Amino acid sequence: MTAPPPFSSRFPIRRRVVLLGATGSIGGNALRVIASHRDRLELVGVASNSNWRRLAEIAREYSVREAAICDPAAFAEAKLSGSFHMATRLLQGPEGLRQIASLPAADVVLVAVAGTAGLEPSMAAIAAGKSLALASKEVLVLAGKFVMDEAARRGTRILPVDSEHNAVFQCIEGHPSTGVRRVVLTASGGAFRDWPAERLEHATPSDALKHPNWSMGPKITVDSATLANKGLELMEAKWLFGLRPDQCTAVMHPQSLVHCLVEFNDGAMLAQLSPSSMTFPIQHALLYPDRFEGVEPPIDLERLMRLDFGPIDEGRYPMFRYAREAMRAGGVAPAAFNAANEVAVDAFLRGRIAFLAIPRIVDHVLANTSNFEPSDLKAVLQADREARESAERGIENL
Ligand code: NDP
Ligand code: MG
Repeated sequence: MTAPPPFSSRFPIRRRVVLLGATGSIGGNALRVIASHRDRLELVGVASNSNWRRLAEIAREYSVREAAICDPAAFAEAKLSGSFHMATRLLQGPEGLRQIASLPAADVVLVAVAGTAGLEPSMAAIAAGKSLALASKEVLVLAGKFVMDEAARRGTRILPVDSEHNAVFQCIEGHPSTGVRRVVLTASGGAFRDWPAERLEHATPSDALKHPNWSMGPKITVDSATLANKGLELMEAKWLFGLRPDQCTAVMHPQSLVHCLVEFNDGAMLAQLSPSSMTFPIQHALLYPDRFEGVEPPIDLERLMRLDFGPIDEGRYPMFRYAREAMRAGGVAPAAFNAANEVAVDAFLRGRIAFLAIPRIVDHVLANTSNFEPSDLKAVLQADREARESAERGIENL
């Protein structure tokens, strides 16, 4: 892990939060946390891609002074509409996101934008010395080495928001990292976990978006159905906690109440439990290291009947196997996996390809990627672009 906590645990003043992806699923949960801790948390900046109407509502409701809209057409519409309060400065495009991520008035930046668009603002927040509360796992999968190196160099703390990683963070805190044998992330199995394999051929986007336990944005919900999400999370854990690939593992756990198990060298395990709502890890990250009442009630042990665990069937979930292979291969393979997955999931959601074509596209891209160790961020971004082009060609040639 990186540097010691920059925060006093006494909350002499309100912690000032920038929320990137405010209009999304994590964004909505973060707003619930902020709303119930208004005496401790203050929203000072918000950003979205194109949903400027919702962003304007949020800015008004929380009296936010800085707002960024990435999409140029949406920015122009928002400007013309006059929906934002006069006192709110409106910033535009990727540069606007970078600016808002490094606001002098901010203490912590919560990055919750879908996909890899969170990379540049995350780097900007680190460079500006902000604490980074990171939900966007793709950022670490794409460029974990560069993000973690920069955070270490600047002494920036990265607070994991992804529920499993937040859980690992809670379990290993105070333990020397040399004592950790492995971390075990839990997987719900996603929307199709009870479907017979032959039905998957006909799975539609609306089927894939019905997650049994979690309410999340569309991309991650499809990633849960393929288990690409768990694969991405293994890579995320590797970077966040400085682990070897063989120390990052996962098991099925259909109830989604235990979010991780950390196994120590002596065989003892620590687990973290909370209801399957993102308000828990978000609150932990935003108020860290303090603990106050949560937005939602804890698990009711009187009603809890059972906790099941089991192995992941890689035959049924090829995306999980490809992710593990990419993690072991290192270099630009994780970036290629991530980019190919993003393109394939988008194509599936738009009805361009079938559900079972997602792993075929990713396999095609990985097979055609010449792996190498990138020396800088530019090389990673180039590999990301090439993998996207290769995925597009794969889709056209299906
Ligand atoms: P959603 O699709 O619900 O929301 C995405 C958000 O990102 C929206 O606010 C969207 O704005 C914004 N956005 C997208 N592209 C850009 C861009 N180029 N610039 C600025 N903002 C952009 O996603 P989720 O909230 O589900 O997920 C967000 C991230 O958190 C993902 O990386 C995901 O893997 C991770 N995560 C999510 C979890 C969850 O429970 N949802 C759990 C753990 C991790 P607009 O509305 O205008 O399009
Ligand atoms: Mg997760």
